[in-house]
Amino acid sequence: MPLFDPAFWKNKLREPRWYEAVPPLLAVMEIESRRDRAAAAKLKEEIYSFVEQQLASGEVALGQTGKAWDAARAPIDTIVIHHTSLPPGLTPARLSAIELMRLYAPAYAKNYAGELVYSDHWREEKLVFWPYHWLIRTDGTAERLLLDQEVGWQAGDWAINCRSVAIAIDDDHEASVPAPAVLSAIAKLIREQYPQVSKERIFGHREINPKTSCPSDLFLSSFDHQGWKEKLLEMI
Ligand SMILES: [Zn+2]
Repeated sequence: MPLFDPAFWKNKLREPRWYEAVPPLLAVMEIESRRDRAAAAKLKEEIYSFVEQQLASGEVALGQTGKAWDAARAPIDTIVIHHTSLPPGLTPARLSAIELMRLYAPAYAKNYAGELVYSDHWREEKLVFWPYHWLIRTDGTAERLLLDQEVGWQAGDWAINCRSVAIAIDDDHEASVPAPAVLSAIAKLIREQYPQVSKERIFGHREINPKTSCPSDLFLSSFDHQGWKEKLLEMI
């Protein structure tokens, strides 16, 4: 029995409450990643590319209307920094598929069972499920995802989500410091787009949600190294 059966999921995703089957699948993926990282990466690729295709062809049951999530948007006074913890080159379509599964499906299964999944964020007549406002590519290009008036499900804290923008580095920085070009791109973006945000209100994801190490163990300073947060703040 394979861990992921596309034939089962093809039918499942058409059901209004498909998302209730997702938490058990995520648990399987989690167990797999502790058992064998390479096998888990392969499984994730299989699942997320499948969901991306089903989204593109309109074969996932989603709401045409739903909660007005962005009605809770507050003035932006906070920035949250992330990394994707994936190889560089993430496409917006793939990110949408990943976060539909990782963020929206479990939230609907837990808190909104019976409703159709709805993000309140439309692009070309399709819902998108991006958590971030900006992706910083490895060459320093800043790519816009969510608009500033849209709330990203990103920090693990709804009140923070409502008042913040999320900037994510398109790379895995669990064990490495971002290149100077990437740090200066983030600094420039903050300087030009969000001059109203004070340096005290710039956080790494892990400072909001201690359950994650995002954007890396090297982000904050410790007794034996200067974290890249300090470098970033100096550049702004
Ligand atoms: Zn994060």
